[in-house]
Amino acid sequence: MKNDKYEVVIGLEVHAQLQTNSKLFCGDSTSFGAAPNTHISPITLAHPGTLPRMNKKAIEFAIKLGLALNCEIEQENYFARKNYFYPDLPKGYQISQHTTPICKNGVVKININNQQRSVQLNRIHIEEDAGKSLHDVDENYTAIDLNRAGVPLLEIVSEPDLHSSEEAFAYITELRRLVRWLEICDGNMEEGSMRCDANISIRLKGEKKLGTRVEVKNLNSIRNVKKAIDLEVNRLIDIVESGASIIQETRSFDADNNTTFSLRSKEDADDYRYFADPDLTPFHITDQFLQAVKDSLPALPEALEIKYKEVFQLAPYDAQVICSDKALVNYFEEIIKYTTNYKAAVNWLMGPIKSYLNDHSIELEAFPLSPEKTASLIQLVNDGKVNFSIASTKILSALIQAPQKNPLEVATELNLLQESNNDSVANWVDEVINKMPDKVKEYRSGKKGLIGLFAGEVKKLSKGKADMNVVNKLLAEKLN
Ligand code: ADP
Ligand code: MG
Repeated sequence: MKNDKYEVVIGLEVHAQLQTNSKLFCGDSTSFGAAPNTHISPITLAHPGTLPRMNKKAIEFAIKLGLALNCEIEQENYFARKNYFYPDLPKGYQISQHTTPICKNGVVKININNQQRSVQLNRIHIEEDAGKSLHDVDENYTAIDLNRAGVPLLEIVSEPDLHSSEEAFAYITELRRLVRWLEICDGNMEEGSMRCDANISIRLKGEKKLGTRVEVKNLNSIRNVKKAIDLEVNRLIDIVESGASIIQETRSFDADNNTTFSLRSKEDADDYRYFADPDLTPFHITDQFLQAVKDSLPALPEALEIKYKEVFQLAPYDAQVICSDKALVNYFEEIIKYTTNYKAAVNWLMGPIKSYLNDHSIELEAFPLSPEKTASLIQLVNDGKVNFSIASTKILSALIQAPQKNPLEVATELNLLQESNNDSVANWVDEVINKMPDKVKEYRSGKKGLIGLFAGEVKKLSKGKADMNVVNKLLAEKLN
């Protein structure tokens, strides 16, 4: 394959909108979807004489992410002005961090084909978002909505340390899981609260020098990041193979046509004329504040995954699925306060509970049964009082209708309790054996596989109430 000659090199810049109530430097609301230009105080509008004030929560959120990614936290910080002109930037500059990003280095751990890899980060810094230019509300004019101007962002910049679109996919998936886990960003790429620019280059394998890169913008889903990288890698290889040279440029991804196109060439570094913002004092992160943020961190998914595998003996896939989402972990952790059948807890969550949530388009937080009730359902099955299939269909739906009842009560009322009494089960077993003399003969002459058929018949006859352990035991006794 032509690609075998080349190594792909990717560096990602991810912007994550922080879920603070107010903006980075004023009290305007950050909520999404409000009528245009309703969250715009004189500070957002950059009226002369207005002064910014720092949002402490944004700084706390940045530190949280930095600690979760093993970054060094910069304790001596200042904000700088990054000057450029753009209609959605009322001040004519963006307040950002220049030489003192709040987090440095650190790694994002990704898993590809069960191999873990640490992707090196360069930095994470805090900055404010710009407003939005709307090109499709008026035929002749571009409209400006400044609600988003001044909303706090984290920019998470990786080193050029990713080497395939699959790695890029895993990297963003992991970042999104973490920002959601820490409850600092909703991670919604479709709504733009998490955005990604991909820098891509290729070089001959073994070459140390980085190749000329292209930067692709407007990637509004993780899948599109992957698609755009694949497109660009092929395009770059074709250019090099044809003997031409790559020009450094910024491109845009066009999802409808599955292609990228050039926005502008980027031959020289932009001159942003950075300087420390004179309206904001430098800020110092005290040891106590840092410690308090450390103490407030929840258990992180990576550590939980290891615990679930090693202590609870869950299969790697099960541990991974539970840890993909904090709500799942929370529910799981509650269930296992009442039962040590960890595997059953996973099965309930990923089976009947998940189906119920999908069918009703609701989140786990809105599931009508408490984890304690789910645990008592698990217990009911463990005790041999009902089988899983009855518990997860009839009893579960009856309980959802009447969540105040307990599973045993419901099973009794609906006459669903499993019969493990030898005598009653023996009656069913005898009936089946008597009904099928030919099959019994075949079984006795060696077709041992027929045991499943007999068991199935007993199950049917008992309407699912026969305890299958007892059935199998009695069948074996009576047939042999
Ligand atoms: P800029 O500020 O112009 O976007 P940076 O030097 O800050 O440029 O780099 C931005 C991103 O581009 C980083 O994630 C970095 O890892 C990545 N990057 C830089 N050079 C290359 C390259 N040659 N190939 C791939 N990625 C690169
Ligand atoms: Mg860039």
